[in-house]
Amino acid sequence: MIEATLNEWKKWYAENRTEECRAIGKKREELDDDEVFIRLWNTQDGKPPEGGESFNAKAWKKPGSTPAPGLVIVTGKGEPPLILTNQKRREEAAEETKKWEQQKSKKASKAKKTDADKNESDEKAKKEPPASRYLKKPYQWRCRDCGEEFDATKPKVHCKRNPRQRAEVSRDSTKWFNQFLEEVKWTYMPHREISTGLIGVIDDEKADALAKEAGESLEKILNGEEMTAPKYFDLYNERTRYLRVSDLKEHSKFKRVINRIAGWREAKQKPVSKAPLGVIEIGHAFDEFLEGTFENIQSDDWAKGERVRFDCEELGVIVGGTPDLNFKGVPVETKTLRVFPHEVPEDKNQKAIFKYKWKKNYAKQAALYLQGVDNEFMLLLLISRESGAFTVVPVDDEAMAAMQENWVVWAEDYEKQLDAYKKLIDEE
Ligand SMILES: [Zn+2]
Repeated sequence: MIEATLNEWKKWYAENRTEECRAIGKKREELDDDEVFIRLWNTQDGKPPEGGESFNAKAWKKPGSTPAPGLVIVTGKGEPPLILTNQKRREEAAEETKKWEQQKSKKASKAKKTDADKNESDEKAKKEPPASRYLKKPYQWRCRDCGEEFDATKPKVHCKRNPRQRAEVSRDSTKWFNQFLEEVKWTYMPHREISTGLIGVIDDEKADALAKEAGESLEKILNGEEMTAPKYFDLYNERTRYLRVSDLKEHSKFKRVINRIAGWREAKQKPVSKAPLGVIEIGHAFDEFLEGTFENIQSDDWAKGERVRFDCEELGVIVGGTPDLNFKGVPVETKTLRVFPHEVPEDKNQKAIFKYKWKKNYAKQAALYLQGVDNEFMLLLLISRESGAFTVVPVDDEAMAAMQENWVVWAEDYEKQLDAYKKLIDEE
C-alpha cells in the first residue's frame, strides 16, 4: 500500500504493528481521517516497492510528539513509526521553511553568525520535506505572454509580466513517460461507473449527451496524435499577487495565502530553488503534457479555456481562474489521477481516495468556475495516469453551499488580513 486515507493507514498500523496507536500531525492539529496520504519508507522499513518513495531524513522534530515539517506520523509503543505525507503538506512545509530562512537571514545580517546558529540551520536543512532536488543556476523561465524561453539567475520581466519558472523533467520521470506513451491506449468510458453519488454530478440527458460527445471526440483526437514526453514543466509557486479560485477551497490554503499575500505583493518575485520528484513531479509534468497536446488540437469544437472572474461576496474579493479547455462553449477542467478505483478493484483504498479528492477538490473547483460563467454546468475531464482511461462528468455548483458557510467564518477570522489585501488592490 502506497497511498491511502488516514483511516486506512491507522487500520494498517493496527494490523501490522500494534493496535494501540495514534496519528500525530502539527501542533494541536485535529486530523481528518479521510485525508489522503502517501507512505514514505525510512531505512528501518527497507526498500520501498515500485512507485514508493524512500525517506532518509529525521522524521521527528521532537521524538514522539512533533513530526518534522510536512509529515504525519502514526506511532505505537515499541513499534517503528509509519511516516506519511502528501503534496499539500509538503507545499506548506516548503513555504514555512522559506519564511523561517528569511527571518534567519534578517537576523544574521544584524548579528554575526555564531556556530550555534550554523548548527541550527544545518539541523533545519535536514528537516526539509523529502523527494525534491535542487535546481542548477541559471534557472529556466518562460514568458507568460509571448512564450519566449530564457535562462536567468533571477526572474526578468518579459512583456511587462513576471515570467513563469520551469524545470527540466527528471530522468526518472522521463523514463516513466516514455513507457507510458508506448503502452497507452486512450479510452473513453461513460462516467456513471465512477460518478454515482458524488456531490455536484447532475442527472440530465442533454448534459450527459454533451459529455459523451466530448469524450468520444477526445478519444479519437488523442489516439491520432503523435506524442512525446514533456521536456519541461512549470514549477508551482504559491506566492501570488491575487487571490485565486484555488485559494478559496480549503481553510489551510486560504489561511496561508491571506496571511502572507500582502508581504508577497511587496517583495520581488524570487526563484524557486527546488523541484519535486516522483509522483508529484509526474503529476505536474502530466499537466504540461496535456496542455501541449490540447494546444495542437485542430477542431472547431475544442478551444482553450477562457479566464473567469468571480465576485466572492462573503469575503468581499474578486478571484480569477482559467479552466483548461472549452468544448462547444462549455468549460472543461482537467484532473489527472493515478488510477480510477475500478481499475484496481483489489485496492479498496482507491474508492475512498477518489471520493475525498472529488469532494475536497474537483467539485469545489467546478462550483467556483461556474460562478464566473453563464452555464448551469461544466465538464470535468478525469484521466488515469497509469492507463490513459478517461471520463467526462457534467457537474453543477452543488458544492457552493458548504464553501459559502466557510467563507462567512473566514471573513470574520481574517478580517484584518482581508482589509489589508483589499486596500492594496484598491491602490493599484
Ligand atoms: Zn514575452
